[in-house]
Amino acid sequence: MNPARPVKPVRPVNPVRAVLFDRDGTLVEDVPYNGDPERVRPVEGAREAVRLLRAGGIGTGVVTNQSGVARGLITPTDVRRVDERVDELLGPFDAWAVCPHGPGDGCRCRKPEPGLILWAARRLGTPPDAVVVIGDIGADMEAARRAGAHGILVPTPVTRPQETAAADHVAPDLLTAARAVLNGPPWGRDLAGERPLEAAHTTTGSGRPAPERAGREAAMKTRRP
Ligand SMILES: [Mg+2]
Ligand SMILES: [Zn+2]
Repeated sequence: MNPARPVKPVRPVNPVRAVLFDRDGTLVEDVPYNGDPERVRPVEGAREAVRLLRAGGIGTGVVTNQSGVARGLITPTDVRRVDERVDELLGPFDAWAVCPHGPGDGCRCRKPEPGLILWAARRLGTPPDAVVVIGDIGADMEAARRAGAHGILVPTPVTRPQETAAADHVAPDLLTAARAVLNGPPWGRDLAGERPLEAAHTTTGSGRPAPERAGREAAMKTRRP
């Protein structure tokens, strides 16, 4: 080969092969213990984010804690119907992993345990280190870390500031997170978007005001025993 000829740069293959989304507060607006498919509302940009990823050949899945089942507030059938509605609006997703247990059950799947992510990664035929987990709270990021996957936090008004501070990567919205995934790691901590990161802390993904306090408290109880 002629050393004088410039070498055409080869774009490295994106090592990310799948994205696993948290459901409530990430893909759809958080309705605590929701058993009603009619109340499923995708967050702003969710449809476009999953479309972009699929077009880029990235597998998509959902990993969701549904302790309302263990608490007797909703049935596994309720969860399935809500999941089917999410699939209608944003899917089809390649894998669904649901933990029906409560915080005291000692299961290996409830985030921040890594079980849901490991199961979904296996289902997608993807090693965990080729998986990105996108979620809205620290437990999502911790589950990703324990599974050996990457985590990108997309904060909402209920995300605690210390959880945002502790996250490896933070994006102001789903679309920014999806674009970063398509560009592949390495990523910086604060992923750039058209919307300033601070905006994610003051409005919901829909741009509407934060959910009322009672709902937020209930949502937090789900997450933090
Ligand atoms: Mg969530
Ligand atoms: Zn579980």
